[in-house]
Amino acid sequence: MSIAQHLEEVRQRIAKAAHDASRDASSVTLLTVSKTFPADDVRAAFDAGQRAFGENYVQEGIGKIEALAGMRDQIEWHFIGPLQSNKTKLVAEQFDWVHSIDRLKIAERLSAQRPEGSRALNVCIQVNVSGEASKSGVEPDEAAALAHAVAVLPGLRLRGLMAIPEPADTLDAQRVPHTRLRELMDTLRAGGLTLDTLSMGMSADLEAAVHEGATMVRIGTAILGKRTYTT
Ligand SMILES: *Cc1c(COP(=O)(O)O)cnc(C)c1O
Repeated sequence: MSIAQHLEEVRQRIAKAAHDASRDASSVTLLTVSKTFPADDVRAAFDAGQRAFGENYVQEGIGKIEALAGMRDQIEWHFIGPLQSNKTKLVAEQFDWVHSIDRLKIAERLSAQRPEGSRALNVCIQVNVSGEASKSGVEPDEAAALAHAVAVLPGLRLRGLMAIPEPADTLDAQRVPHTRLRELMDTLRAGGLTLDTLSMGMSADLEAAVHEGATMVRIGTAILGKRTYTT
């Protein structure tokens, strides 16, 4: 099957899950995660109507942004991987979104390094909703303090929360961490923050995520196929 066909299948999965959850499918944005895949695959997805792409590795992502520079103002580039402080400048200069904010220092650097005249960088706080099994993301009880500190940084616009839950086999088990993230976002909103983004759901658990209120799902394998990592 082609990338266009896989994309259509994923759009159908989102539409069905949204329908089952009595949600409007247009309230769920599909992000195609293109890490490890070439710029030509991004172009094929673009030709099939896809406009938002996620990358995990700074240099690899920027290589594709540059290769597709002619489409730059039609594509939204999302940085979704772990971010070290020596790479924040490139991300602040090149990307539209960062989903993986888990410490204030990284957020402060991104804010300071966002180029003058660019729109604020959209950011999400990554939360560890799976307990000890996962090391990335801020702990849920630390999310509010970090969110309030990030929300006032001038170069950033805090949009919401992101999570990468541990894999689980059943829909019910998959829903547990997604529910936690949604409830945490509700709490932060009640505390005065304006948030509109719940970034959760990947190829294996997008239905559970949409059921629990995901507004952005990040799909790699189901659209571009199985990844092979080379060193
Ligand atoms: C790789 C990745 C995805 C996509 O995962 P699939 O299971 O291939 O859909 C989504 N989010 C993040 C943060 C990732 O690193």
